[in-house]
Amino acid sequence: MNEPASPLDLVRDRIAAACRVARRKPGEVTLIAVSKTRDADDIRPLLRQGQRHFGENRVQEAAAKWPALREEFPDTQLHLVGQLQSNKADDAARLFDCIHSLDRPSLLNSLARAFDKTGRQVPCFVQVDVGSEPQKGGCALADLPRLLAEAQRAQIPLAGLMCLPPVGVEPAPFFALLDRLATDHGLPGRSMGMSDDYQTAIMLGATHVRVGTALFGERR
Ligand SMILES: *Cc1c(COP(=O)(O)O)cnc(C)c1O
Repeated sequence: MNEPASPLDLVRDRIAAACRVARRKPGEVTLIAVSKTRDADDIRPLLRQGQRHFGENRVQEAAAKWPALREEFPDTQLHLVGQLQSNKADDAARLFDCIHSLDRPSLLNSLARAFDKTGRQVPCFVQVDVGSEPQKGGCALADLPRLLAEAQRAQIPLAGLMCLPPVGVEPAPFFALLDRLATDHGLPGRSMGMSDDYQTAIMLGATHVRVGTALFGERR
């Protein structure tokens, strides 16, 4: 008998469908399962189905949850998708394989030092405030060229750009803007698209989609 399709199967199918429409290869899009607030028992079924990229928004929560899970599934890749404080840069460098929330010059020195200290060069996405909502974090559009130049000078490995568009409005123009900015700055990665809009994001060039609710259900 066939197993019923899991939420992960459904999301994978939708990613594949969006890639077909956009004439992109499914391998160009990395699905990050955002597991913030979920415990190990929620996460393990996805690991058993082969999901290997996970996103967390808090360094401390990730440090409590993931070392044990990683012993079971050592090839897991962890992505930091929430704001990073300078004083957590060392922990973040040890724990995460990718950081999606580099958004201000004051993080550059802390990250560069953390990468030296830990011997890990963690690729970073620069988060861009595409909707002019400074409370969400993200670098202002006007400050982006300077932040990217300073990041290069500090030898931070840059993976691409990331955005969290405003809630409740059509996200497509914001995704298109992020794609354009990444192209203009010669950056390969576009981290954009969440449960409600990852297919749209894929049409507009997303390389990393960050999906929580559609995989795990509503957050408690
Ligand atoms: C929580 C979160 C997500 C996932 O959101 P869903 O709507 O649950 O898919 C994606 N990106 C960031 C930065 C988040 O904090």
